[in-house]
Amino acid sequence: MKKATHQQTKEHNRNLVLKNIFERDPISRAEIARITGLTRATVSEIVAELIEEGLVKEIGTGESIGGKAPILLGLVADSRYLIGLYLGEDQFFGSIINLRGEIKDTIEMPIKNQSGDQALQSVYSILDLLIAKDWKPIVGIGIATPGLVNTKKGIVINAVNLEWQDLPLAELIEMRYHIPISILNDSQAAAIGEYVYGAKHPSESNLVVINVKYGIGAGILINGCLYQGDGGGAGEIGHVVVQEHGSLCRCGKAGCLETIASARAIVRRAISLMPEYPESELAKNPESISIESLKTAWQKNDPLAEKVISDAAYYLGLSIANLVSVLNIQSIVLTGDITCLGENWLKMIHNTMTQAALELLASNTKLEFGKLGFKAFTLGASAHMLLGDYRLLFLK
Ligand SMILES: [Zn+2]
Repeated sequence: MKKATHQQTKEHNRNLVLKNIFERDPISRAEIARITGLTRATVSEIVAELIEEGLVKEIGTGESIGGKAPILLGLVADSRYLIGLYLGEDQFFGSIINLRGEIKDTIEMPIKNQSGDQALQSVYSILDLLIAKDWKPIVGIGIATPGLVNTKKGIVINAVNLEWQDLPLAELIEMRYHIPISILNDSQAAAIGEYVYGAKHPSESNLVVINVKYGIGAGILINGCLYQGDGGGAGEIGHVVVQEHGSLCRCGKAGCLETIASARAIVRRAISLMPEYPESELAKNPESISIESLKTAWQKNDPLAEKVISDAAYYLGLSIANLVSVLNIQSIVLTGDITCLGENWLKMIHNTMTQAALELLASNTKLEFGKLGFKAFTLGASAHMLLGDYRLLFLK
């Protein structure tokens, strides 16, 4: 094993101190020394540097436990900024975000029927606009993209609706802006967003976030780290075939979960099943069917709405039962457009999950809606850059 150089040890210790301030502030120097095992002298020296770099400040005094009251330290939330970019289906969103996840500025850019090249130009345009703003310094750009991503290499392996294949997105952006980049799948980004800024999740805990909008994907956090699998595709539950002779999916297979349980699939199925439900109120106005109109009809016990919504809940519940059985992660969050169907729909999913999985596993699993809505994508894309490692924030 190679011995760490002095410089590496110093960086490691600085990261450790900053991590504790990030996760536990307000906190005293003595408390940091106790938690990290570093000497008080080392902690004081590092804290002095962090104050000098503007990342940390003294924010008052704590309670004395005999002797002098300790000085408490806090993070300076606006000392650095990150950009979070979400490449949504028909709109790109870019936000400037501070170190506590406060969104300072957002630019939305509609994109429709763009070629792969045009989509890339749109990414540049939105970044140009954000970087030209007054929020400085920007220390990182996190991008949430649909499709399969190699995060380590910064390559979008395949994003069908953006027409990107093996696109070295991180390299292209880094060459243009000279700012560190992180690229990850959108569902994985949403998972990090909910983990860091959504409901309070204990540090280093486990979480699965299932994102249901035009597609379906899951993001998995294990011990507070994103789990991407060997090929980056962990959580691609939307493209598992669950129905024999089902509808054709955009991945080329037929009967994928996504063709029954996504928000778009529910609408599409309602339209195609309409001839079988002439008594449905929805049949009077087929052009205006949307996820919202289906919800309203469902609340009035419309049989067609009941059919497509309960099918979606059933197959999603089965998929979640599989996840619960493989991972035994007890905290599961659902995000995306589909959450507009509300708590009764969540109960249906929960019932199927409970019936399909081992009772002991299912009964200890909590299923709930996300707290952030679509902001989870941009927040998560940026937060990924600081997940347990804060070296990005140090002045070089
Ligand atoms: Zn598919």
